[in-house]
Amino acid sequence: MEIKDSNKWMGRFFQSLAFKLSLSIFMLASVLLSSLGIYYIQKFFDGIEKDFYSSAHLPATLLDDGILPHASVRDVDVITTLMGTDVFEAFIEGSEGRISYGSDRMKEGERYAEISKNQILDGEVVTHWGIAASNVDVAGADLVHLTAPLCLANGTTGRLHLLVDTGNMKRHKNVVASWFLLGFTGCIFVLSLSCATLVRFMTSPRLRDVASCLAAVEQGDYSVRVRREASADELGELSRGVNHMIRELESRRIEREELETALRIAKEDAEKASRSKSEFLANMSHEIRTPMNGVMGMAQLMKDTELSVEQREYTDTISASSENLLKIINNILDLSRIEMGKFNLNIDTVDVEKVLNELHTFFTPSVIEKGLELKVDCADDLPLVCTDEGSLRQVLINLMANAVKFTQKGHVEVGVQCLERTGNECTLAFRVTDTGIGISEDAQEIIFHEFTQADGSHTRAFGGTGLGLAISKKMVEQLGGRLTVGSEPGKGSEFRFNISVNMEDTADKETPIVEVPSEEESLGLDVLLVEDNKLNQRVAVKMLEKMGCRVDVAENGREALNALKLSLPEDERPRYDMIFMDIQMPVLDGLKATVMIRGQEGEEHRTPIVAITAHAMKGDRERFLEHGMDGYLSKPVRREDMRTMLKQYC
Ligand code: ADP
Repeated sequence: MEIKDSNKWMGRFFQSLAFKLSLSIFMLASVLLSSLGIYYIQKFFDGIEKDFYSSAHLPATLLDDGILPHASVRDVDVITTLMGTDVFEAFIEGSEGRISYGSDRMKEGERYAEISKNQILDGEVVTHWGIAASNVDVAGADLVHLTAPLCLANGTTGRLHLLVDTGNMKRHKNVVASWFLLGFTGCIFVLSLSCATLVRFMTSPRLRDVASCLAAVEQGDYSVRVRREASADELGELSRGVNHMIRELESRRIEREELETALRIAKEDAEKASRSKSEFLANMSHEIRTPMNGVMGMAQLMKDTELSVEQREYTDTISASSENLLKIINNILDLSRIEMGKFNLNIDTVDVEKVLNELHTFFTPSVIEKGLELKVDCADDLPLVCTDEGSLRQVLINLMANAVKFTQKGHVEVGVQCLERTGNECTLAFRVTDTGIGISEDAQEIIFHEFTQADGSHTRAFGGTGLGLAISKKMVEQLGGRLTVGSEPGKGSEFRFNISVNMEDTADKETPIVEVPSEEESLGLDVLLVEDNKLNQRVAVKMLEKMGCRVDVAENGREALNALKLSLPEDERPRYDMIFMDIQMPVLDGLKATVMIRGQEGEEHRTPIVAITAHAMKGDRERFLEHGMDGYLSKPVRREDMRTMLKQYC
């Protein structure tokens, strides 16, 4: 852990600005001081060499002035003492070129040129400060041959030749060079270190301040500011820039918050307005359903009476119109249900093949009427699946109704196939195709919007509200799919959607038993009808009587409790096979009445209670069952639905 921390610290140090600046200073100082060092070392070397070569003048001058006898060159120690350097050999060369005196007496009288050729000599002669010097090639010794001019006793000129050891001079040079090197290196380090410390001291606190401000801003704190923003240097400029940026961000945040608040309020208002609209639509359609019950019920009852041809035509028209009106109301109710978020899926086991066959039966009359062909293309291997049958059925009804409506000749086909199976899941692909008028590409873009039709003109040939596809699209989305269309004007259309569903064990798949309703069958049941609306009372009583039921009527929940005489002992109470109970009633509503009935009746004589209601919102069914009811029929009630309920519960 510690190693990790120190590595991290080192990494940060090497990347820090202070380190980089220090490195630059170090490099600059190295170059400058090294150049300076080389210059001064050279100067010192020159001084040392000058001293060295100049030292040869002293014995020559002394010999010239006669202070030293010429014979003294025979003693190299004397010359060495005078020069301060080790003299290896000394000669005086006379005017005739012969050695008059020499430290090596054997060579006296010999010609200097001979000796130098054999022994002393050497390379190129260079004059240093008036002394001719050349390097001498004597093994093992670092010698130089110095020559100084000399006046001889007989008035002629000669030369003093010295072979001098340069070892001392070189050592001196090395010592000087070493000291210089040491001094300059030390200077470089001290300079770099002090500059680095200075840079660090001047920049680090301010950079840290900037960094901590930026970190605070990152955390959403816009109140922080970098200090010393007034200073005129680059860091001051940086501080001013950062502070300006923070102020800008702060004002933008305030603006954004204000905008968000305004947007939220606008969204809430819009949602409120949309909810009010949906509630209004739901209430309206609910209110319309109650009188519709009367209209449809009465028209149905009238059809069962003796009618002239003209009267029958009128009644049929009333029935057809009210059916259409009911469809519109149902669509509006569905839409408002979806928009209010009250649309819940009711997932159960669904036999898709059965659903399609039922749709075939349902659409057969209208297809035959238009001279069309209706095909169902259902794959053989369809499993039982888990989905919301009601929504699926409604989507297919909407699509098939459109297909029939917009097709004049040819066929309408509904098909489903299982695209793929993975584990317990399968993807069902549904399609509804027709050979109708088709939809232009532009119109394909808009037909899924509410209240929109491909032909929006006043002269359009087909009726409709433009709601069916909008509802279908939303329902398919709820089922987990996406409704799409492909079409060519004049050739036909194809609506498609895929949904992924869980599969049920196919062994459970039952062959559908189609129950043929028998209108004639007399049920002979005792029914209590609890309904406050007189018209609806009459409709329901007539329907029930037609089914061979005996009907008692109660105007509200209180009257229903009275009719059931729940205060009497159980075996003295009147028995009913079924209670049809309206929900919204004066005095005592249907739900409260049901709770009271369930509280007082014995378990053995539990009477089935079925709600008859214009409350057709999702979730209502569950509410009714929670209050002790057994089922519900939504208004307008059809005779077949009532019969089904009676058969199911009695
Ligand atoms: P409605 O049918 O009540 O007008 P829809 O939402 O169901 O409302 O359809 C919207 C529009 O889409 C229709 O008015 C029609 O112009 C077009 N449309 C839908 N289905 C078809 C189809 N099968 N063939 C041709 N046009 C169609």
